Amino acid sequence: MQFFSTKMRKFYLLLASILIISVLIVFTTKNESYAKGKPSYVLAVHGGGVGVRKDKATSKDKKLFKEYKLKLTEALKIGEAILKGGGTSLDAVEATVKFLEDSPLFNAGKGAVFNNNGYNELDAAIMDGNTLKAGSVAGVTIIKNPILAARKVMTQTKHVLLCAEGAEQFAKKQGLEIVDPSYFKTEHEWERYLKSKGSASLEIEKTHGTVGAVALDSKGNLAAATSTGGLQNKKPGRIGDSPIIGAGTYANNKTCAVSATGTGEVFMRNVLAYDISAQIEYADFSLKKAAEKAVKKLKNQKGYGGVIAIDKDGNIAMPFYSRGMKRGYITSTGKLRVFIY
Ligand code: ASP
Repeated sequence: MQFFSTKMRKFYLLLASILIISVLIVFTTKNESYAKGKPSYVLAVHGGGVGVRKDKATSKDKKLFKEYKLKLTEALKIGEAILKGGGTSLDAVEATVKFLEDSPLFNAGKGAVFNNNGYNELDAAIMDGNTLKAGSVAGVTIIKNPILAARKVMTQTKHVLLCAEGAEQFAKKQGLEIVDPSYFKTEHEWERYLKSKGSASLEIEKTHGTVGAVALDSKGNLAAATSTGGLQNKKPGRIGDSPIIGAGTYANNKTCAVSATGTGEVFMRNVLAYDISAQIEYADFSLKKAAEKAVKKLKNQKGYGGVIAIDKDGNIAMPFYSRGMKRGYITSTGKLRVFIY
């Protein structure tokens, strides 16, 4: 006895073919988009905003810009060596930021701005997009590399943020390098402090700047790190956005990794780094669109600055609302770029 009529058999055959073809289409599309150029790793870095208009840059500014570009290139290569060797995005962002903290060219670690009492207070944060673990230190004055202390807070404590003396005691116990506060002093920043002394204006460094890095590693893990001396002429005890998870630093494997620079108070009020991630997670926006929308808030709220961000597919966005922003990226495809404007 014939179980199916010929008509029915034809129908089932057609259904099966449609199913097989749809499955094939889904898989090949996925593979194609990966093969088409998803880099196996990406690292982006920033060295803060630039307050000088391109057409107004003096020869002294231009000389400095060259130095920034060289330092950012070196920083990118340090992080890249880690990613290329199969290292983690966390190790890459930490090493990149540490290298920039050691350079007097930036407002982080050595070269940090002075508060209005004439000493340096440093903030830093790191976040692991895989576990959503994070660590930060704020208002520290004797830890040579705040980013290393932030990482220790993440890995060696149950907390997220340690500040001031508590953070310093912790760093000492962890065996991190402790320096005399005078280590952070540079003539450039001291002169600016003397000029602004007594005034109420809070300034973002016109050329020197906060540093940050974001990375995607070959295992698909995202990480972000930021380090800063904060705003010049800030009140002692003022903490900015950089060490506040979600404000100036954020990473989530489901969405993106972000490091910010600029008017910290605006980043904090708008939880801007997390805002970018949330737009991707809940509204399905592209990284570019989400980052641009977030940076627009700076403009609307009289703030300045920008972000560097990488999404889980290795896309990069680096929008800013300021005259310029020292920034760059490197990918596993060998592409390295650094920009000021
Ligand atoms: N965002 C930093 C702060 O407000 C400053 C900067 O990025 O220049 O502390």
